[in-house]
Amino acid sequence: MDNKLLLIILDGVPWRNFRRLFGNLEGWVDSGDARVWKLRSVLPSISASCYASIHTGVAPAIHGCTGNANVFRLKEKDVFSQVREAGGVTGAVAHSYWSSFFNRHPFDYVRDIEYDEPESKTINHGRFHTMTGYGKDNQMTPSDVDLFGTLTNLCLRFGLDYGMLHTCTLDSMGHRYFHDCQEMDHACFVMDEMLAPFITRWRDLGYEVIVTADHGQDERGHHGGRSPLQQETALYYFGDADGPDHSDVIDQRQLAPAILQRLGAPVAETMKAEPFLR
Ligand SMILES: [Zn+2]
Repeated sequence: MDNKLLLIILDGVPWRNFRRLFGNLEGWVDSGDARVWKLRSVLPSISASCYASIHTGVAPAIHGCTGNANVFRLKEKDVFSQVREAGGVTGAVAHSYWSSFFNRHPFDYVRDIEYDEPESKTINHGRFHTMTGYGKDNQMTPSDVDLFGTLTNLCLRFGLDYGMLHTCTLDSMGHRYFHDCQEMDHACFVMDEMLAPFITRWRDLGYEVIVTADHGQDERGHHGGRSPLQQETALYYFGDADGPDHSDVIDQRQLAPAILQRLGAPVAETMKAEPFLR
């Protein structure tokens, strides 16, 4: 492996919330420690379809995940499989859809909640949660600091070359309270403050770090369709590579090949989009 990299996906954060409310991330853009671009999600701009596209680099029209009610083991190669192909160690701290898509489906609450599988062709070290019972009245999301801590624990114990973390807290808050309110301002502020010290720690451990979202949310907390608020989010990059012009918009399908190229792992033939980092 040429590099180590962590992908942090904060579910359902529109471009304007990242840029307006994440003071630590924005401060690192100002200081030159991070770069930020606009990223446009695939269609449908719904979570499961976007997760599948983020990691396979192909559109939902190709991988076939049409939404959260249609989750299955994907047939395409993905970032985990390609890192393993190159001999790297992978880890994931995420919603159970990620285990179903890239390791095995259906998700078994006991077998798959936590696993360490050194011989796996995809995810070596998985720590998952299902949010079963999720609704507007009960988010069923773990605390984000626990998730960030768990990923750091995996990095230190198992020497991950590639780790991904996904948390639904802000997506759930957006569905619950919408976006123009004190609750959402505060939730984004808390996320930024919880995440920031971990970014410093991960950088000290030698990781490049990408922070982004799967999709945005509009003023009614909706996403799934086509509009800037639903599709557009930010991508923050901490690392040594050069990127596109500040005004360029990254296509979500460019993420998988870009990550693999940074790691020095083979880009799968199916990943046709141009990597945005070089
Ligand atoms: Zn989502």
